[in-house]
Amino acid sequence: MGLYGWLYEQSFKETPVALQVHSGTGEIVAVPYDGGSGALSVLEEILSYRQLASEPYSPVGWSKCSGCGFFEYCWPRADKSQDVAMVSGVDQGLALALREQGVVTVDDFLSQYDESQLSEFRRPWGKQSRRVGKQVVSILRMARALASGEETIMESPNIPDNYNYVMFDLEGLPPHLDETEKIYLWGMQVFGKKPSEYIASQAGRRGFESHRPLFPLQSQQRGPHLSNLGLIAIFLGKDAGIPGCP
Ligand code: SF4
Repeated sequence: MGLYGWLYEQSFKETPVALQVHSGTGEIVAVPYDGGSGALSVLEEILSYRQLASEPYSPVGWSKCSGCGFFEYCWPRADKSQDVAMVSGVDQGLALALREQGVVTVDDFLSQYDESQLSEFRRPWGKQSRRVGKQVVSILRMARALASGEETIMESPNIPDNYNYVMFDLEGLPPHLDETEKIYLWGMQVFGKKPSEYIASQAGRRGFESHRPLFPLQSQQRGPHLSNLGLIAIFLGKDAGIPGCP
């Protein structure tokens, strides 16, 4: 909007009386006009990027990149170059701070930092900086797993001994992306003595039908199924929305 206001001013030689936008809620929202300075500084930044001899660096990050149209370009390159930003727990600020210290790859990271050094390392945090602190254990574990390409067992899962186990196919959005914080149950499958096929929830004309196929299993395979369902219910702690259900 700032750019439109500036273009208006350049074309008609007068400042716009007001900038307004029709929002998705149906309201008319006033947008303060800054003479176009904000929009022009963004354009200058874009121009400076376009004039660079080599590509600018920006660390990849799952929540930042997963919905971006350049994902297929940036992510495989970061993976191939073993960019330190690929390490789970290394956020944007930490990746940039490490890069300033010459740490570009996962191997650089592991060879230059041990636990105590990384714990004291300060990365940008808003307008201040903050120590990596206790996160160091998890970050180094992830980095070692990424470098070796091998799975690391952090702790054996404490699963009750039962004949049948149910795997739930759940999907949700990170809370910061989805204000409703719904978790969707797409389907389930029983493994063990009485295995089942994968049972997908289906969106029917009446939404409630969508999870009807799941209920017979609860009654046929009592005990383990119900106990696992109970565990999942406790684990979710939120409404487990099913596609098509209100
Ligand atoms: S995929 Fe590339 S361009 Fe898109 S947000 Fe990630 S780093 Fe930036």
